[in-house]
Amino acid sequence: MSEQDCIFCKIVRGEIPSRKVYEDNEILAFHDINPAAPVHFMIIPKKHIASLGDAREEDRDVLGRMMVMTGRLARQQGSTDGFRTVVNTGRVGRQDVYHLHVHVLGGDEPLPGMIHRSK
Ligand code: 5GP
Ligand code: ZN
Repeated sequence: MSEQDCIFCKIVRGEIPSRKVYEDNEILAFHDINPAAPVHFMIIPKKHIASLGDAREEDRDVLGRMMVMTGRLARQQGSTDGFRTVVNTGRVGRQDVYHLHVHVLGGDEPLPGMIHRSK
């Protein structure tokens, strides 16, 4: 999958619309099109990294910034008492979109023990 064809790169470039939660020069956060919880958005690096399994030492700062961002954005979106982060990786992790993304799931009430959509 090249950056040209990648859905999330297209969202970064504005070629596919998204409901943005946050943006800066290296990070974008937007709502999941098919939410699995009352609050469900993802945080992605603008740089195309195919999966967590492909992350390199040079990606450490942006990945760290994404993690640090989760709490503030989750609270802003109304998940004030905690949330869950999920990073599906590769075939075994049932990753669908091969551009690294951190799902942030939450809401007012505790989530089910495990969120897993049958695919
Ligand atoms: P994965 O299974 O790769 O962890 O999750 C991919 C997620 O991307 C899914 O939850 C799916 O709903 C979401 N998704 C796929 N295509 C689009 C899109 O075009 N826009 C948005 N906002 N979300 C998408
Ligand atoms: Zn991409």
